[in-house]
Amino acid sequence: MDKQKGIDSLFNPRSIAVIGASETRGKLGNDVMRNLIESGYEGRIYPINPKAGEILSHKVFRSVRDIPGDVDVAVIVIPAKFVLKAVEECGVKGVKALVIITAGFKEIGHEGQEAEKMLASLAEDYEMVIQGPNCLGIINTSAPYNASFSSGTPKKGSIAFASQSGALMTGILDWSLMEKIGFSKFVSLGNKAHLNESDFIEAFGRDSDSTFILLYIESVVDGRKFMDACRKVIPHKPIFVVKSGVSAAGARAASSHTGSLAGSDTAYDVAFKQCGVRRASDMAALFDVASVFDDMHLPSGNRVAIITNAGGPGILTTDACEASGLQIAQLTSQTVEFLKENLPPAAAVYNPIDALGTAQPEDYALCIEAALSDENVDSVLVLLTPQAMTKQAETAQVVVDAHTKYPGKPLIAVFMGGNSMVYPRIILTEGHIPVFDFPERAVHALAELYKYTVSRDSLKDESIPKFKADTKKVEKIISDVRADKRRVLLGSEAHAIAEAYGIPVARIRLATSSEEAKSLAEELGYPVVLKIASPDIVHKSDIGGIKVGLKTPEEVEVAFLQILDNARSQLPKAIIYGVDVQEMAEKGKELIIGCSRDVQFGPLIMFGAGGIFVNYLKDIAFRLAPMNRSDANELIMDTKIGTLLRGVRGESPSDVVAIEDAVLRISQLVTDFPDIVELDINPAFAYEKGKGVSAVDVKITIGGP
Ligand code: ADP
Ligand code: MG
Repeated sequence: MDKQKGIDSLFNPRSIAVIGASETRGKLGNDVMRNLIESGYEGRIYPINPKAGEILSHKVFRSVRDIPGDVDVAVIVIPAKFVLKAVEECGVKGVKALVIITAGFKEIGHEGQEAEKMLASLAEDYEMVIQGPNCLGIINTSAPYNASFSSGTPKKGSIAFASQSGALMTGILDWSLMEKIGFSKFVSLGNKAHLNESDFIEAFGRDSDSTFILLYIESVVDGRKFMDACRKVIPHKPIFVVKSGVSAAGARAASSHTGSLAGSDTAYDVAFKQCGVRRASDMAALFDVASVFDDMHLPSGNRVAIITNAGGPGILTTDACEASGLQIAQLTSQTVEFLKENLPPAAAVYNPIDALGTAQPEDYALCIEAALSDENVDSVLVLLTPQAMTKQAETAQVVVDAHTKYPGKPLIAVFMGGNSMVYPRIILTEGHIPVFDFPERAVHALAELYKYTVSRDSLKDESIPKFKADTKKVEKIISDVRADKRRVLLGSEAHAIAEAYGIPVARIRLATSSEEAKSLAEELGYPVVLKIASPDIVHKSDIGGIKVGLKTPEEVEVAFLQILDNARSQLPKAIIYGVDVQEMAEKGKELIIGCSRDVQFGPLIMFGAGGIFVNYLKDIAFRLAPMNRSDANELIMDTKIGTLLRGVRGESPSDVVAIEDAVLRISQLVTDFPDIVELDINPAFAYEKGKGVSAVDVKITIGGP
């Protein structure tokens, strides 16, 4: 079914039924009716209640089926046990969208969860969309209509907001009225039984009344869909999100480095980054950005002009800008000359512009206008401290006027102080100027807007490379391992899988006797490495399960026996399959490339500095698979070892393309085989440009059948 068509009806209904409408004040069914009427909704309103009669001057129907005309939206506020029946009736009636406010579903346990599954399948059967259950409702300020039990309706504006918490929305709504922040859509996601965040992101993306998308989520229903929806929208509109709560660790076993190093929230962070979504640290930061965006254009660069009447705040702001990736603009010589001519000699005419404690509104006016019209300036921060000669209110008015004259660049006010700033701040807010009490928050919000433009511009529509691979061989190995009732692959099996996907590995063979080890060593060529082969021993060096640099048959024989001895004495219960004989690889830069699986987002690829100190250095970065070559390159360059690989201090650069290839091939492997729940290559040696890489330790774990 086309959920987007359903959401169109949900956003702009011609008629609304309120199932559970009530005449009694204090009941949700009364609140919803009141909000609908008071929001100025112009379509038809049909209260539904078995008692019939009239509610708030609207004729009551006993059931949706008794309504003579079409019904686009039905809002459901009856007790949970009656909801399924009402939904079915709506389906029969041909209602296009339902808003189920009623609580008592998934949040109460198994029974509720089953009921939600029924809701979703009814929605599909009758081709209608369902918002909720357990939600506050929906508000569209441009329809206009308020089908929620909120107290009050938000101001009309350009922000589309969807929230997984209804209570949080009520707080924000109330606060936004005071702060004069306007919304286009206000959607409470509830339990997301049918419509979820991805559906609304896509709809907000298509909605011409919304230019900015804010989300509060605790989880996403479908990671891939979420990323696809965001990628579609980000080129046109910013998406800012607060994600709270810790996601389920799910199938993640902690035996591999990748599994233990990926925090429970890593996948979300990476997903947001990979699709250009900006993550705000908390609600305050989210709405700081919103308050700036609601009134201002996006900055076209990161060069900021600061205007102040005191030195200290100017320095604070400069520091905050530099810490947030904003640059202090270098004013043009014309601007500097103009300021020199018009400001007192003691004033600072370079950025920050300090018009001194005696600065009058006229001084501010000329500074702000000079900054706004300077081609080297992308946005302007106006700081004011209340000093003896300061005229706060008049200065506020000057800021408002300057913005009206030059609306193209962001202009943000920081009016520091208490009582004397209350009224000036009102003037600013009324005049559509975002205003803050302290510089850091203003700078942070501005920086976020700028960073959105950067992530938007760096999103590339690059295809995912497809390498030739022997999938049959991988299937066979995995099914053999399953037949052997194992989940951890032996070294020889894991290396064979990597090889089947074209990942260069040091050749490795399993020996079950010292005689066999010697003949394999002969075949591979000396020197060789011997490694314990046991699914119960993941970290081989820890138990003396590795002997490197063996040059003769005698050394191989001794090592073989010694490794078995070490294993048996330290882990007597481990099942030992033999000893792997591996060709010795030339030393290179040690890398780790791994994969763990996230419940929502799937394969999470890790790259970083490898070797035995991985857990201590934690020089690692993550991306979600599948990925394109730019993703792979950025993943590598996000680490410190990435910088070293480029070649520093006279060292020749490493074969970064070969490393990218290895990352991409692994990304393809784990995407093709969801059976692989964990993969660790540690180390892979990276060589000079043109000489490739070589994996010497590949570990793979497969999921339960
Ligand atoms: P584990 O990580 O289980 O302890 P590895 O197979 O990674 O065991 O081996 C430990 C270390 O031995 C590696 O970090 C690497 O430095 C070295 N090593 C292992 N195999 C080879 C090889 N084939 N060639 C060169 N060095 C190797
Ligand atoms: Mg290792």
